[in-house]
Amino acid sequence: MSGEETRPTVLFVEDEEAISEPFSAALDREGFEVLNAATAGSALEAFDRAEPDFVLLDLTLPDGDGRDVCLELRKRSDVPILMLTARGTETDRVIGLELGADDYVVKPFSSREVISRMRAILRRAGTVAPTDQPYRTDGLEIDFGARRVTLAGDEVALSRKEFDLLSALAQNAGEVVTREDLMAKVWDVNWFGSTKTLDVHIRALRKKLGDSATEPRYISTVRGVGFRMAEPEPGAS
Ligand code: CA
Repeated sequence: MSGEETRPTVLFVEDEEAISEPFSAALDREGFEVLNAATAGSALEAFDRAEPDFVLLDLTLPDGDGRDVCLELRKRSDVPILMLTARGTETDRVIGLELGADDYVVKPFSSREVISRMRAILRRAGTVAPTDQPYRTDGLEIDFGARRVTLAGDEVALSRKEFDLLSALAQNAGEVVTREDLMAKVWDVNWFGSTKTLDVHIRALRKKLGDSATEPRYISTVRGVGFRMAEPEPGAS
């Protein structure tokens, strides 16, 4: 079994507890990490904070319209979005998809129906995921398409951000990647403040890879500039 950190995170935006509570439990049983939001405002806030892998979005929210939330999310990300609608008119369906949602379901729905739609969307997203050659060096292997990292053949459980960070470095192996570039690539922000969160993640990555800041095997610090990933072994990209 894979660790907790590799469970895909779902942001579930729904104000009706009668739906969100049992359905969140079903998602949890099916292997998803569930993050709940009951308003449009808290949904966007939670999205920015947690960068979920999937969004389940109710159309009618107490402080706004799910369609506006969908538009806002699309400005920020191409995260898969499944709209939940009680209305079920053709117009709402078309509008839902025009907003950039990946699919919709009409209430009342069963958790089994929604989860199978979610899996289909995630599978489709998987087929368009990058299928780069794996990166290999000194016992470390990164499969970008499968988002899988092994060290001497053993799987290393990385959080989403840790994986993204390692990928950003490995895809530019041998070159310095600046702190600002990493913040933009991994956290998707133009960073004006502290990059402390980057250091925290680098430290966690090194620990999981058995790497050391003073005698780096994989990730070298380029003081005041950024980080550099070791060159891949010949024959791998
Ligand atoms: Ca609602």
